[in-house]
Amino acid sequence: LLTVRGLHKTFGDNHVLRGIDLEVRRGSVTALIGPSGSGKTTVLRSLNGLAMPDAGTITAAPSRRQVRRGVPDAESPAGEPLTLDFSRKITKQQRFALRDRSAMVFQQHNLFPHRTVLQNVIEGPVQVQRVPRAEATWRATELLERVGLAEKRDAYPHELSGGQQQRVGIVRALALRPELLLFDEPTSALDPELVGEVLAVMKELADEGWTMVVVTHELQFARAVADEVLFLDGGVVVERGNPERMFREPRRERTRQFLHRLL
Ligand code: ATP
Repeated sequence: LLTVRGLHKTFGDNHVLRGIDLEVRRGSVTALIGPSGSGKTTVLRSLNGLAMPDAGTITAAPSRRQVRRGVPDAESPAGEPLTLDFSRKITKQQRFALRDRSAMVFQQHNLFPHRTVLQNVIEGPVQVQRVPRAEATWRATELLERVGLAEKRDAYPHELSGGQQQRVGIVRALALRPELLLFDEPTSALDPELVGEVLAVMKELADEGWTMVVVTHELQFARAVADEVLFLDGGVVVERGNPERMFREPRRERTRQFLHRLL
């Protein structure tokens, strides 16, 4: 679905990404783990155009939405892959075409406080994707049912628990029908007893075949759900592979130390 090659990113004199390669296959779950400041969030934000790398390329498979509609956008005609080469100028259309493929679930749910759950969920589909309100409402209701929140449709975010808010955050991402779901430490702001309900929803999505990239400190989740784990440190991928193998017998000393501290 996505191929990332040689991503570099510098903030001031902080060289945060130093040549990241990554392959996201359709239907796979990729977990990014690593110490604080290693660049995980920056990689994730690069995948949907929220962060602009200084060098490297991201190639995205043809978007299903575009292919279905047969509508070419300026940068990626329908049926053609989209390539962003960050050593050149990236146009707004390219950035938009990349962003259109994914939806992000943030650490803080980022819901609009003065809108109801339903209004929060249909905002993107209605305003950005021009989905008719009735259809967006129907779809949102179905998704809320799936995560056990149908009866909270008309509640405001502050009336929900942190875990419920985050489940709404996930539904809001799903409502956009993205090809790729990006999760940025979705449970790290939650009280420990609420973490499980959010991870359970994520596991269900993985089982349903959603393509997911997850930045997480929940190593047991990564181990149980991810198809591939990337261990980042200092802006490079120190080690990558099948989680069972990596957790059982890390090949790099740095990976071993990191896992040893957290497991
Ligand atoms: P954490 O687990 O703490 O979230 P991380 O591995 O996700 O860390 P990043 O958030 O990608 O790491 O940050 C990597 C480095 O880049 C950090 O040193 C951070 O301070 C810096 N950084 C990130 N975003 C910006 C920004 N917008 N401006 C300046 N520096 C930034």
